[in-house]
Amino acid sequence: MDALSDHPVRSRRGLLIVLSSPSGAGKSTISRMLLDADRDVTMSISATTRPPRPGEITGVDYFFVDDAEFDRMIAANEFVEWAHVFGHRYGTPKAPVKQALRRGSDILFDIDWQGARQLEPDFGEHLVTIFLLPPSMTELEHRLHTRAQDSEDVIADRMRRAAGEIEHWAEYDYVLVNRDMDTCLGEVRAIISAERSRRIRQTGLVEFVRDLIGPQH
Ligand code: 5GP
Repeated sequence: MDALSDHPVRSRRGLLIVLSSPSGAGKSTISRMLLDADRDVTMSISATTRPPRPGEITGVDYFFVDDAEFDRMIAANEFVEWAHVFGHRYGTPKAPVKQALRRGSDILFDIDWQGARQLEPDFGEHLVTIFLLPPSMTELEHRLHTRAQDSEDVIADRMRRAAGEIEHWAEYDYVLVNRDMDTCLGEVRAIISAERSRRIRQTGLVEFVRDLIGPQH
């Protein structure tokens, strides 16, 4: 339990946590594990024009929309960011982000470097960006094969694009090599814990310290 847990004015600002990686580096698994382990984190569900893969559910994995609906969402200013990725469009709906920040809870984004870059000017200090690297390109390819979601052509295409995504590693606050899911999850949670403790996030601190040492100080 942290020092502020039982204080009535305990409050903090929510974090926007961006987790990016080439596909196959473990981003989805780490995201799922984090959501299970930490009730203060909710997932941002993107809208996409990509067709669903087998087993994907609209409203859970993505909001699967057609081009006309995506155009309407752009025109209505419903996205905090959107980008073209692998020939489809992906965008982050604005409303859940605002709600999470108002509640003081954290929101996790599985988005690419283009999305991270667009969030920066709007959310600045509330944004924490993490890039996951695979231990090797051989291991990345192996993981893409074992998850068995994509055809050989799609896997070859993802491998071709992986280097281009990895090139953006230096734009992130934190960079982790995902050799092992549990270790990597531990590292992600340590980053979140440290970021939550930053003075600028703890909006209840002034009152807490006033109570602690008295108003005369
Ligand atoms: P996939 O089609 O494999 O689910 O996702 C392809 C890529 O699109 C991933 O790198 C994922 O992080 C990225 N992505 C998913 N949703 C969004 C989004 O809303 N915005 C941006 N910029 N990228 C996204």
